[in-house]
Amino acid sequence: MKIILASGNQGKISEIQAYCSKHEVLPYSQIINSFDIIEDGKTYQENALIKAKSIYDKIKPYIDDKFVVLSDDSGITVPKLGNIPGIYSARYAGENASDKENLHKLINELKINNIKKTPAYYTAAMAIVTDKGEFSVHGWMHGDVIDEARGDKGFGYDPMFIPQGFDKTLGELDEQIKQKLSHRSKALYLAKIVLETL
Ligand code: IMP
Repeated sequence: MKIILASGNQGKISEIQAYCSKHEVLPYSQIINSFDIIEDGKTYQENALIKAKSIYDKIKPYIDDKFVVLSDDSGITVPKLGNIPGIYSARYAGENASDKENLHKLINELKINNIKKTPAYYTAAMAIVTDKGEFSVHGWMHGDVIDEARGDKGFGYDPMFIPQGFDKTLGELDEQIKQKLSHRSKALYLAKIVLETL
């Protein structure tokens, strides 16, 4: 079965492809031109469903094989800062902000508040849209954020995130460690169970 990813984020695409290496997994932009989707949901789950449904509808006329559309809406939450940036993680530093700009804005926010290290967690909501209906699952990863960027592995906020039980950031740790622990892997574990029932 083809798994079409409703994402243009290379970090997410690589992680999902690595986790689902037995399936044919491809970004939707390999089939149709990428287009803007207004993510105006109030939760990760709503946004994941918005993305997967709009891409499923657009892509359907172009695919003959059995396929599903899988989307990932994710972000990081820092409770001590009032649960920011949460569902706004991708646009924390502005509408078209880069991952680096978002990362440094969050580091700056910690510095402004004199916080060197504080608990944080990643959330991933995944939506699966198929000819048999729509499904959604979640995964979380807990740890701490620190007021500096360390390492260049992973993507997004990874250089400032230390997963529970470690003393290095995801920017420094081996990518296979992230694959075992991550919010995305946990959601994908559940997503695979859904896919097997189809
Ligand atoms: P989305 O593409 O709208 O779901 O936005 C996800 C946002 O959360 C982006 O800013 C990502 O950089 C960030 N994010 C999600 N998952 C991760 C992760 O595994 N590591 C680092 N940043 C992440």
